[in-house]
Amino acid sequence: MNKPKIVILGAGYGGIITSKKLEKLLKSGEADVTLINKHEYHYITTQLHKTGAGTAADRQIAMEIPELINPEKTNFIKGSVTGVDVKKQAVHLEDGQTVKYDYLLIALGFDIETFGIPGIEEHAFAIRSFRSTKAIYNQIIRQLNQYKEDKDSSRLTFVVAGGGFTGVEILGELAEGLPKLCKKYDVPFEEVKIVAVEAAPSVIPFFPKESIKYTTEVLEKFNIDMYMSTKIVECTPRKVVLENDIEIPTCTLIWSCGVKGNPIIQNCGLPVEKGKLPIDSYLRVKGMKNIFSIGDCSLFMKDEKNTLPPTAQVALHEADVCAKNIVAALRGGSLKAFEYHHKGSVASIGNFAAVGKVGNFRLSGLFAAFMKQVIEARYLLNLGGPSLIIKQHFGVSKEPV
Ligand code: FAD
Ligand code: NAD
Repeated sequence: MNKPKIVILGAGYGGIITSKKLEKLLKSGEADVTLINKHEYHYITTQLHKTGAGTAADRQIAMEIPELINPEKTNFIKGSVTGVDVKKQAVHLEDGQTVKYDYLLIALGFDIETFGIPGIEEHAFAIRSFRSTKAIYNQIIRQLNQYKEDKDSSRLTFVVAGGGFTGVEILGELAEGLPKLCKKYDVPFEEVKIVAVEAAPSVIPFFPKESIKYTTEVLEKFNIDMYMSTKIVECTPRKVVLENDIEIPTCTLIWSCGVKGNPIIQNCGLPVEKGKLPIDSYLRVKGMKNIFSIGDCSLFMKDEKNTLPPTAQVALHEADVCAKNIVAALRGGSLKAFEYHHKGSVASIGNFAAVGKVGNFRLSGLFAAFMKQVIEARYLLNLGGPSLIIKQHFGVSKEPV
């Protein structure tokens, strides 16, 4: 009899952890598992702001997928998914390959939300992937070098759009990273301006007042210019336009105004709601018995009105249940309903400050920064055990940072 084929699309948080759980749950020879990802590396999305500001080495953020999985149990294909043919049970890749499946997991993650604002897609720099955040770092270095040639001060203005967690995290890294980069490239840091623009009245508007106050104070101590209650309405290669016709001359707008589901899911012949794949309580795409979806590209209703947020915490929790449900489905067993238990959130503001909430407890300062490091280390431990943590922190850096 042919072995059932399990195919996983995307090796982000959801995809790679599901594949690692399947390696443990499946008996030898019970199924063929294939993991497909655009790049040959897995990146730590929750640390991408560090790549953007050059405050972490590449090896700390991106790691080779074949080194994270067991090649005897999981077949890895580096390929870009272009669509799914549900009737033929086949996945199409950009290079023309077709991969057949019996059970499919779609974990293709997020894309940035630009709200159709003119110039964002073309000229802004996105915190979307390892590659896109390397582009931010390269842009900063380019601007520092060009400033030395033409002394155009707009090159040293770095604007961050959006003061949600992503915006606050990149602002913190820029504030800590830019002085070092200026020293290295012999540019006066006093000439550098970091600007934050947020449409809501404050940064992290969804957090308690005390946390907002703390975060605002830390950002102000970093001398960050704050434009609150202000929307960005346009971006060109040389300026950012705010509502009320305020213009900020700059060559670097870093866009962190929210995320949406990966648009590739529109090509899967599956139902799409709010730009995501609606999933049932067993994490199957609604109406499908053999197609599962988790993470940022899926829509899980936690009650009648509210959906789960696009976070790594949700994707990881879903991966655990999804792996068990895929195995139960192929063995003809009963599936487990997914229940989400929120553990809390912590966002860094550079290396020495952070803000968070765990249950009813508010965290801030050095302790919160330490907690954030513990959360990140726990993920690495799950992914590759203690040896991965050692390799990430003490390995040879490929990039001078
Ligand atoms: P992803 O991690 O985005 O993985 C998707 C994978 O699919 C990627 O490997 C990608 O290369 C691959 N892929 C995409 N398109 C294709 C294609 N066409 N073909 C093949 N492969 C493809 N959440 C938290 O809970 N805590 C945090 O502290 C936190 N910090 C964050 C910091 C930043 C800067 C950002 C941007 C996000 C942060 N998040 C955090 C959110 C979290 O990173 C996401 O919710 C999480 O990455 C979602 O996991 P995922 O598996 O759904 O998708
Ligand atoms: P977000 O949606 O949380 O925040 C985006 C911010 O951009 C909002 O405050 C919004 O008011 C602002 N905005 C939107 N349009 C604007 C405009 N035109 N001009 C100026 N401001 C504008 O998005 P995010 O921060 O990218 O986070 C995405 C997801 O990732 C969330 O679920 C978040 O919780 C998660 N995340 C978590 C962490 C963490 O836990 N440490 C870190 C980063 C991201």
